[in-house]
Amino acid sequence: MKYISTRGRMEPVGFLDAVMTGLAPDGGLLLPESLPSFAKASAGRPNSGKTLDDLRGLSYQELAFEVMSLFIDDIPAEDLKALIEKSYSTFRTPDVTPVISVNGFHVLELWHGPTLAFKDVALQFLGNLFEYVLEKRGGELNILGATSGDTGSAAIYGVHGKKNIRIFIMHPKGRTSPVQEKQMTSVLDDNVFNLAVEGTFDDCQHLMKSIFSDVAFKTEHSLGSVNSVNWARVLAQIVYYFYAAFRVQENTGALKVQFSVPTGNFGDIMAGYIAAQMGLPVKKLILATNENNILSRFFNTGVYSMGEVVPTISPSMDIQVASNFERYLYYRVGQDAVKLCEQMDSFAKNKTLTVNGTDDLFAAGEANTVQTLVMIKKCYETESYILDPHTAVGVAVAERFQSSEAPTICLATAHPAKFNEAIQQAIGTAAHHPALDKLANAETRCDTIANDEATVREYLIAKT
Ligand SMILES: *Cc1c(COP(=O)(O)O)cnc(C)c1O
Repeated sequence: MKYISTRGRMEPVGFLDAVMTGLAPDGGLLLPESLPSFAKASAGRPNSGKTLDDLRGLSYQELAFEVMSLFIDDIPAEDLKALIEKSYSTFRTPDVTPVISVNGFHVLELWHGPTLAFKDVALQFLGNLFEYVLEKRGGELNILGATSGDTGSAAIYGVHGKKNIRIFIMHPKGRTSPVQEKQMTSVLDDNVFNLAVEGTFDDCQHLMKSIFSDVAFKTEHSLGSVNSVNWARVLAQIVYYFYAAFRVQENTGALKVQFSVPTGNFGDIMAGYIAAQMGLPVKKLILATNENNILSRFFNTGVYSMGEVVPTISPSMDIQVASNFERYLYYRVGQDAVKLCEQMDSFAKNKTLTVNGTDDLFAAGEANTVQTLVMIKKCYETESYILDPHTAVGVAVAERFQSSEAPTICLATAHPAKFNEAIQQAIGTAAHHPALDKLANAETRCDTIANDEATVREYLIAKT
């Protein structure tokens, strides 16, 4: 499988190069040249050689191998199997992403990984993949990232202790939740560097982008990125859409399912879109946002226009420009790179773009803070089950799009104990998880650093 850029100005590359590249040199995002399918072969759609029925009985890891190997032809099968085994052995439950029943919905718990958020599903795999590539090709990698919370700790847990990899994560000093900060700074391996920047999350992101735009510096210091534009992250997430649909079909006999996905950067739901293109029988992908609703507005009006970011109780979705949206847009404009470039140029200039027509696969809505708190309370009172605030946004929006023929699977993206301020507000008591309770007295390491690019560069030079 070769990978192309959405902007059409890159020679196609193999999977491993796509992973190491991250963002395409022409500024686009990488996508597979064609999407393999488990349904009948059709023009331009290679059949995978397997059908959905061949996959139903597989374990999570076996299924991951079948799905991923359609997109990867430069890792030998045995190596890929080993990478998958290793990546999901750190999860706290053998079925990796279990599906349970709550409030008439099926909840897909994606938070059984080391940092209790769904990002572990992709970042455990990506960390092992980086290590694998460096073993094969030599060299080293210095990951530089900015985080408002969840991504940083999942990325750190993905690579801590790995040879030839260092990770530098910048977070806004004193502005992430105490739990999130503890999760990051309590990882004491020599290759982990936590930088508390005296500034906001936007400052951190600005520092990162500015340093990455200096190609000479980036090359000289082997800088790499773990953000959600990396194709391997989307790929790893495709697997659980299949896994969850099979579990719910076994239980209900339904022919089709729906997914409700709490959305920020459009990475998670992009994986669902690809699963549907591969032949998974999805009636609707329900896109759920908080008050930062650029994406739900888009799917309801065709206009994608940037607003101001407002802080909410579901902070990992407090995003206005969704970095993965370009991948979807590429398909939406008929895989036409010229049209895609026009749209992205329009957005860069005017902070708005418009697409004609609709996409029947999607339904979209927003749940505000009050609706989110009410949903957490309702599930707690009726089922003694605590939804994290991101998941609750998805469940609240899903209630509006129930279908009698297609059961709805709500993606649970974090354990509630990561967001206890919201949980306290909703139900008057805190959620607990032993892994987080244990952190209370953990030793931590973190360097405070000025919000200044030259200082960050000096730091990187000194440590690499
Ligand atoms: C990152 C994150 C999201 C949003 O996922 P995207 O792929 O950015 O749409 C939702 N919930 C939680 C808990 C997250 O950490």
